[in-house]
Parts: sequence; structure tokens; C-alpha cells
Amino acid sequence: MPNVKNWQLGREMGYPYDARYPDRQFAFVFNINRCIACQSCTMACKSTWTFSKGQEHMWWANVETKPYGGYPQSWDVKILKMLQEADPDGQYWQADLSSSRQAPYGEFKGKTIFETNDTVLRTESARVLGYLPTDEEWNSPNIYEDNPVGPKGVRNALHATGTELPVHDTWFFYLARICNHCSYPACLAACPRKAIYKRPEDGIVLLDQEQCRGYRKCVEACPYKKTMYRGNTRVSEKCIACYPRVEGSDPETAGEPMETRCMAACIGQIRMQGLVKLDEDGSWAEDRQNPLYYLVHEAQVALPLYPQLGTQPNGYYIPPRWVPRQYLEQMFGPGVERAIERYTYPDRELLAVLQLFRRSNLIIYRYEIEEGPRVYEGEYRGRPFSLYNDTVIAFGRRGQELFRTQVEEPVHVRPAEHANSI
Ligand code: SF4
Ligand code: SF4
Repeated sequence: MPNVKNWQLGREMGYPYDARYPDRQFAFVFNINRCIACQSCTMACKSTWTFSKGQEHMWWANVETKPYGGYPQSWDVKILKMLQEADPDGQYWQADLSSSRQAPYGEFKGKTIFETNDTVLRTESARVLGYLPTDEEWNSPNIYEDNPVGPKGVRNALHATGTELPVHDTWFFYLARICNHCSYPACLAACPRKAIYKRPEDGIVLLDQEQCRGYRKCVEACPYKKTMYRGNTRVSEKCIACYPRVEGSDPETAGEPMETRCMAACIGQIRMQGLVKLDEDGSWAEDRQNPLYYLVHEAQVALPLYPQLGTQPNGYYIPPRWVPRQYLEQMFGPGVERAIERYTYPDRELLAVLQLFRRSNLIIYRYEIEEGPRVYEGEYRGRPFSLYNDTVIAFGRRGQELFRTQVEEPVHVRPAEHANSI
């Protein structure tokens, strides 16, 4: 099996195919702290792509309540358990947060879903460790919504007393998910028909339904369970990253690269999606003024989802501040404490970059900050804090200005003649 570089794991990794990287890679950052589970993203996707007969159970975009919820049910618990059984002593990180862009979290010592060869869990012919969810597991996309972890880990129980940061005693959080358009897609690796491919221009992973024969190897292999089988057509389908919008060929975009429907619909303004430049080994090329690069590699507030699975997912999350760290670390790796610390006490630049989320549907390639006056000085959670009303300016593919916005949001006072009782 060829070796490829997986920068999220800080090491080389076995993968069934030689490495090939796109010119730019589709990637996104979701800020979990702001998600309100309104499901606008879920419905924007559903009403665009999966509203037809045979697609009733298909939710390419979904939002699940962690830790109990999941679509399909228990997808992460199941694959992590399989990995643990196949590699009982290996699933740990040698954390090193001082290290470079090539290995920002240290090194993952365990085997990935491509590297286990336990023939009990994985047949000789299967290229990837995985499982096929049951029909029942696909049936309830929003199971256990808002069910918290209570005293002694009891589901839906509540602590009698109040709770406060840094960690809540009673907790849950919303995890919004789409296909991660992975750099090393497990779905692609597993397909015996070679029906799945990664686009060289933007790294979007697509499934050719003409080639597919419905063997469901992709459904079995994708650890995030983001390929889905359609019974009435007998082929699999998956998220297409709204590629006409991303490439600027959708009439609505007027030729400009535009973010996907689920991003554009986000009420909580938690989502930002873009196209990042890659180095020859597939790691992110230095691009200091790209907001996604800044959030992942400079501020290091956004972390990949279950990097230990090995697919090098291109979805990144700002972890929720109130959740027990052990839970978050098994989900996002060793960078969690650092990410939460930086998000909780944002510096001047981070505060400005966070204003870029959802001010426009166009893809931001670069930002600049114009310094503004200090508008607040005081203390925040026991530390001195100054707030500056900086202006952050977003630029598009051709270097044109897309919009500008400020840290301090304007206050609009409703004129007396339009006052009402609401
Ligand atoms: S998330 Fe799953 S379906 Fe999407 S590219 Fe990765 S392995 Fe394939
Ligand atoms: S639209 Fe945004 S805020 Fe609403 S559920 Fe989706 S990700 Fe969360």
C-alpha cells in the first residue's frame, strides 16, 4: 500500500492509492459555540438536492446533538470501537503543540481505518475498516435532540444546581455535519467500480451514478457515514458541495465562487467555507490572509473532526467551550485546550476575523484589517481586555473587495412612528 503524508496525524500513512492533490481544496470551519440547531442548513440542503422519491432518509447535511445523537445512530461510537478492537493499545496521540504547520497537533501513534488488517473485523477484500449501518440506524436523523449528559453520565438527567464555565456539569452540544470532502476519502478508496473521484480543481469528492452499481462499499467505508444508498435507483449518492455555486457556474453566482446552500442558510452564522491552497505534500500552503488558513493554522482555534480516522477531513470546528475536555479531545485531538483558550480570550485579529462569518455568500480568498479606535477597556473573565472597533475587509477570487464590516455592530433604533408591541 502506498504511503501518503497526513499532516493532521503528523506522519505518513498507508492509503490504497498514490497521493494526488487538487489545485485548491474545498474546506470549511464551523463554530460550534454559535450553533442553535435551527436546522436551516439541513433543510436548505434537503430542499435543493434530496427531495425526491427514494431520498426520504437522505440528509447530506445534518445537525446532531452530542454526545447521544447521531445520524446514522452511533456512527462515531461504532467506528471508534472497531478501531479500538483492531488496535487495542495503539489509539493515542503523542501530543506536541509546539510543532509546525506540517504536524500542528503532534503525532497520532495508532492505526487508521486504512491501516488495520484485522481479518475478524475487516474481510480480506475490504480496503477500509468500516460497517454498514442498519435501516433502523438511518431512521431517526434527529434522535436524542437536546438530551444532555446529567449526573454520573445519565442521559437526560439534570443537575439540581447551576453550572458555569469552564466546564458545565450538565451538557450537550450541536454538531453540524456534511461530507468532509476528505483529502484521503475512504469512500473513494473502497469503491470497486472507481465511481468516486476527487476533482482536481477544488478537491470536491463526487460519485458518478452511471458507474455505481450499488455495492455500498462506500457506505460501509466512509467513517462519517456521508455516502447514502438510494433504494429505488439502486445506486449511492452523496453531498456534491453545491459545486455549481463553488465553481461560479450557477446562474445565481454571476460567475463568482459562492458558498454552498447549507453555509448560506446558516441562521447562527457559524459557517465559513472556502478554497485553500495546498503544498506539494497536501498540507496547507502558507496563506496568512486567507480566513480559513488563519483560523486553522495561525489562531489554531478550528480543529478537524476525528482526525485519527485518517481521511484528513476538510471540515474544521471551533470546539464548544463548556464541554468536558476529555470528550472533546477524543473528537478533535490534542489541540482542544489551546483552541478553547484562544477562542475564550480572542486577540484583536481573531475578533476581527470572526466578524467575516456570513456577512456574504461569496467565497472569501483574503482579508485585511484596518485598525479602528479602542471602544472598551476593562476586565473579561479575570483578565484585562481591550476592544477595538477594527474594520475587516474581505476580497474575492480576482482580488476585488467583496464587503467590509466592523467589530462593533451598528445599533439601529426603530423610529417612534414605527414602534410596535413586539
Ligand atoms: S466524509 Fe465520507 S463520503 Fe465524504 S469524502 Fe470523506 S470518506 Fe468520502
Ligand atoms: S443553520 Fe447554522 S445555526 Fe442553524 S443548525 Fe445549521 S449550522 Fe446550526
